[in-house]
Parts: sequence; C-alpha cells; structure tokens
Amino acid sequence: MARYIFVAGGVMSGVGKGVATASIGKILQSKGYKVSALKIDPYVNVDAGTMNPLEHGEIFVTDDGTECDQDIGNYERFLNQNFSSLNYMTTGQVYQAVINRERSLEYKGKTVEVFLHIPEEIISRIERVGKETKADFVLIEVGGTVGDYQNVLFLEAGRMMKRRMPDRVLFALVTYLPVLSNVGEMKTKPTQHAVRFLNAAGIQPDFIIARSVVSVDEPRKQKLSDFCNVESEDIISAPDVNFIYEVPVNFEKDHLGERILEKFKITSKGEDLKDWKKLAHSIGIIKKCVKIGIVGKYFETGDFTLMDSYISVIEAIKHASWVLEGKPEITWLSAQEYENDAKALAGLKRFDGIIVPGGFGNRGVEGKIKAIEFCRENKIPYFGLCFGLQLAVIEFARNVCGLPNATSSEFVTSQNKESLDLVIDVMEEQKELLKEKRYGGTMRLGAYSCSLLNKSIAQEAYHVKNVSERHRHRYEVNNKYMEKLERKGFLASGVNPESKLVEIMELKGHPFFLGTQFHPEFKSRPLAPHPLFLSFIEAALRVSKARSLHAKNG
Ligand code: GLN
Repeated sequence: MARYIFVAGGVMSGVGKGVATASIGKILQSKGYKVSALKIDPYVNVDAGTMNPLEHGEIFVTDDGTECDQDIGNYERFLNQNFSSLNYMTTGQVYQAVINRERSLEYKGKTVEVFLHIPEEIISRIERVGKETKADFVLIEVGGTVGDYQNVLFLEAGRMMKRRMPDRVLFALVTYLPVLSNVGEMKTKPTQHAVRFLNAAGIQPDFIIARSVVSVDEPRKQKLSDFCNVESEDIISAPDVNFIYEVPVNFEKDHLGERILEKFKITSKGEDLKDWKKLAHSIGIIKKCVKIGIVGKYFETGDFTLMDSYISVIEAIKHASWVLEGKPEITWLSAQEYENDAKALAGLKRFDGIIVPGGFGNRGVEGKIKAIEFCRENKIPYFGLCFGLQLAVIEFARNVCGLPNATSSEFVTSQNKESLDLVIDVMEEQKELLKEKRYGGTMRLGAYSCSLLNKSIAQEAYHVKNVSERHRHRYEVNNKYMEKLERKGFLASGVNPESKLVEIMELKGHPFFLGTQFHPEFKSRPLAPHPLFLSFIEAALRVSKARSLHAKNG
C-alpha cells in the first residue's frame, strides 16, 4: 500500500510548489523508494489543451498524449520517469466522471452531492495512482493556494484520507516568507495565516517548506513552530537558487527525507543524491557562454515577461548546454519585431543559435519566418520545434523553391486557397474534427515513432535508426511538395513509418538548420539531455568559438 504526501501552497502562487513536489520525490527516490506523483489543477477545463499558454503556461504532453500542466514536466525531469493521464487531475475531469456515472444510474437513485461524491471521486483517483504504479509514495500537488475557493474539495479529499489512514498520509505546505526591504526582516505572518487556512480545512501541516530569497534562520523557525504547531525541524528552508536542480540538495540540508521517513516509521534503503549533487556542483562552475535566442509570442504580459510557456524548451537548452560545458544565456525575442524591422533582424547575428518553438495562429508568423530566413542565410544554427519546423518549410518554399505563395492552411480562409501553395496542410483526420468544433484533446498527440535517414544529422545525433517522440499538432508538411524541397537540399530526415508524415527536416550545407514536427523538449532530462538539443548546442558552441577566434584575430 502506498503512502501519500499532499503538497499544498500558501501565501501566493508561483513559489515553486511543483519543483518542491518533484524534489521531495527525488529525495525519496534517492533513498531507495518507488515514487509517483499526481498534479491536481483546480480549473474546470478537462485538460490544459484548450488553454492559451499566456494564461496557463506551457502545455506539457506525455507519451500517452495527455495535455497537462507543466509540473508534470518537472516530475518527469526530476524523477527520470514517464508519466501519463493517471498523474494529472482537474476539476473538469472529476465532475465529468461523476456526472457520467449519474447519467448511467450508477448512483442507484441517490442524490448526487458535491460533498461527499466529489471528494470520493478525487480519493479514488489518488488511490488509483498508488495501486496502478505500485509506488511506495504518491505525491499529490494541490494546485492553487490554500484559501482559494477552487481547491477546497481537493483539500477535503486529503483531510478524509488522513482520517482514514492516519499513518499513511502527510501534508506539506509550501509558503513564502517575504523579506521587506524597508524593515530588513523576514516576515512570518503570511505563513501563519496560510497555516490557519489549512487548519480551517481540517488539516494540520506536517512540514512547512519555507520559500524565501534567503534561508530561514532559527528565530523565525521557532516563531513559525510556536504559531503553526509544526516542529522547528520540520520547517524546511527553501531559499532562492540559481538552478532548480539544487532544490533537492538544499532540502536535504534540513534533513527533509529523513524526517519524512521517520514520520512514516520507515528507514532509508539506499543511496544519497550523488549524481544530483555532482550535477548541481558542475553547473555552478561553468563559464563558457552560449547565446540562444527564442523567437516566440507567449511571454509578453503587460510590463512583465513570463517564461512559463516555454519551460521545457528552456530546460532542454540547459541540460544540453551543461553537458557540453556551456552556460546558456537565453534571450526572449518577440516575433512581431522582425516583421518590418531590418535592424532588429540584423541583431540576430549576435546569437549562437535561434529557436522557434511551438505556436498556433497567425500572430507573429511573418516575423518568425523572417528570423528563420536570416538564420538560414547567415548560417546561424536554427532549431525549429513543431511550428518552428512548419515555418521553416514555408520560408524555404517561398525563398528557395520559388513558391512565393507558400503557406499553411492554419493561416488561410477557404476563399483564397486555390492560389496558394499549402506546403503545410491540415491532416486528413483533423478536417472533420475542426468542422465539428471538436477541439479538446483531438490534435495528433503523444508518442509516435520516427525512422531516421541514414547518415543524416538527426541520425548521427540519436545514434539509432528509430525513435519515439511526443507530438501536439493538427497540421503537417505536405508531402506533395517534398520533391521540390529535397531537390534544393531541405531533406526529410525523419519520417513516421506508418503514416509517412514528416517528423524531421534538415538542410544540407548549413552548420545546423533542423526542424522537428514533434516536441523533443518534453523528453530531455537533466542527466540525459535530448540528442537533438545536444547537436544544436554543439553547433551553437562551434559558432561561438569561431566568432571569438575571428574577433581575436581582428
Ligand atoms: N499550430 C501548428 C499545428 O497545429 C503547430 C503546433 C505546435 O507548434 N505545437 O500543427
């Protein structure tokens, strides 16, 4: 039987609950236990697939095609494990299941109530993770912040589980302790209130994970202990770090793993965090910079820049760079800037590599295409991820293959289709779905296989003939144009063996100009970087080296 650790958040969102959850998992895994995790998102959406990334952050995709929260990505990266729909729950899913059951008379004439039926459904989904994965520990991250109206029923489920299995359930509260610059002191009050909120839900936290800019000192641990009924050794310091992969190592400084095992009355079976510590140490001493620009549109919100929409891309760049002893310097480039600004475009020369990541819709497309053209002509390493592949094909068709009207059917209305070259076209099986407005969970999603062309850059990166990668798209490279593209040197170096859909394209005679229809970023792990990111960063480092040699020699 599994043990369950609930992780809830207090004070505010964005304090790193997902990383804290993944880090607890990492620690327990390093002590020889099997760990699984479940992310609960309190929104009514059935999954994250229909949400704008600016609203939700990255939409992560698992092998089984679940479009879920980016925290699942954190779990996969930290635990080096693949997750699935089992590991993700939303309010929408819970209500949908209960309503479907009611419609098929499974409640046998009873009144179906928010309480108890909804928490019971939540509990059964939580316990299913334990049963199906046979994990020793299931970590349950409750999205949102305690006190939110939306997550009350999930906390209720936690409370009930604790009552039913007091020795098998623990609660951790991740909070934030502000350090006010005018007072110069770390304040505990918001955390005290957050604990009260949790208490009001009938839950007493076993741990407080105290996020702050700096470590929590003894006097404040004592104060929190007195006010919140949590032993001071169960208040875990979680200061800001340069790299999220330092977090498990930091938690262990306060012996979090040991304390958890003690509370469950079990002992460590294994090793410490050796590889992980080595990684955290090696990252800290890297000096050589590699400058990567990401041309996108899902990061501008008012006066602030959000990185959440591309989090797996950022992590994948880091993983590959670190192994190659490069320190990635990532710059956000707003696609629209390149639409009519030659000077901005010329500015791309300062980068060692450019990425155009996933995207949807018209906005910013022409700017991205201009940026891709600039990379192709100026031999700047270019890596296109899904949309980034599709736009590279459009660019190449227009500017090299002599098809000025090349575009994707994603951008056109039915009236003017005849005069256009739809080098990217909607997939056959998508047409009906779109007509019927069946948008949710209907893209080409999850793992599909890809056969690699012998001696291609792709094959040399992977060192194997066949790979499996994760997808999320409705449009595809139109094979009718393949001959034209290949004749000019843009080759399909990866193809799905069953459907013949193009998976990878790469340009001959360029330092690195490659695009993937899938999202390689989802499978990159800190200790196992993705092969294509590795060869992209390798190319970028070569460019950077050549450039500095050139500068030195005048
Ligand atoms: N909008 C494109 C499609 O649906 C690309 C999607 C993506 O980049 N994930 O095919």
